[in-house]
Amino acid sequence: MDLHLSQKVFIVTGGAKGIGRAICELLSAEGAVPVVVDKDDSAGKDLSKALPRSHFISVDLSDKDLCRQAVEETVNKYGHLDGIVNNAGRNDGVGLEKGSPEKFLQSIENNVGHFYYMAHYALPHLKTSKGSIVNIGSKVSLSGQGNTSGYAAAKGAVLALTREWAVELLPYSIRVNTVLPAEVWTPLYESWISTFKDPEEKKRQIENKIPLERRMTTPQEIADTVVFLLSDRASHVTGQWLSVDGGYLHLDRSIS
Ligand code: NAP
Repeated sequence: MDLHLSQKVFIVTGGAKGIGRAICELLSAEGAVPVVVDKDDSAGKDLSKALPRSHFISVDLSDKDLCRQAVEETVNKYGHLDGIVNNAGRNDGVGLEKGSPEKFLQSIENNVGHFYYMAHYALPHLKTSKGSIVNIGSKVSLSGQGNTSGYAAAKGAVLALTREWAVELLPYSIRVNTVLPAEVWTPLYESWISTFKDPEEKKRQIENKIPLERRMTTPQEIADTVVFLLSDRASHVTGQWLSVDGGYLHLDRSIS
């Protein structure tokens, strides 16, 4: 299927590693220009060497002025912007007991603040291109995990904003959707699992709870759905929350 993405320009936040990187690689393979906005300078530079058509902007997204500058740099360089993927975030474990009001607010800023900043600053350009927004949520958007109030609040807000923006942006034909991963093998996941005494055993236990094929989702499988949603092949899909997780969140856990 031709996704009609040739020469289209997409900003991918957190695009230097993991899920974001897979999205950038697929966009590039489809002939589009991925603009990687990430604070990992070395991974971002590596990726832009590997993908000659891409562009890397080194930014900490918690600074709203830098978010605005990243959008401006993109539009000044390419003349147009066809979509954004709000992907950067991390499950930072700011709970009720192991947390503080300050850490809670910081977690919200790191996990959803920049989703708003990027959409806000990109909006005039997305109106012109009738672009598309794809947000990355999490299973924690919909299911409690414990000990992660900030991340849960932010990822829940991502779903609410998806419906809210989908309505607000109807007059401009800008579509807004969210993809929800559950267990995806990425650098972030690898560093989290390495904190367990027996990481291999922990990984096996998690995989055993994933109904479809008892395996983790690959970053490429998330990217396939994200890039489809960005494209005009999803031209009548908006306001949707799509779980790409091998049935982890929605299928009966008692199945064997
Ligand atoms: P990852 O491997 O850590 O990659 C994310 C990239 O985003 C990293 O390069 C990171 O840089 C960057 N980043 C994070 N915060 C940033 C900020 N404030 N400004 C600029 N760059 C920032 O993570 P991932 O596992 O691919 O996760 C991507 C998204 O999927 C996140 O929103 C995450 O919550 C969601 N998700 C992932 C899973 C999973 O199983 N992996 C499950 C559910 C949801 P640093 O490394 O320097 O921080």
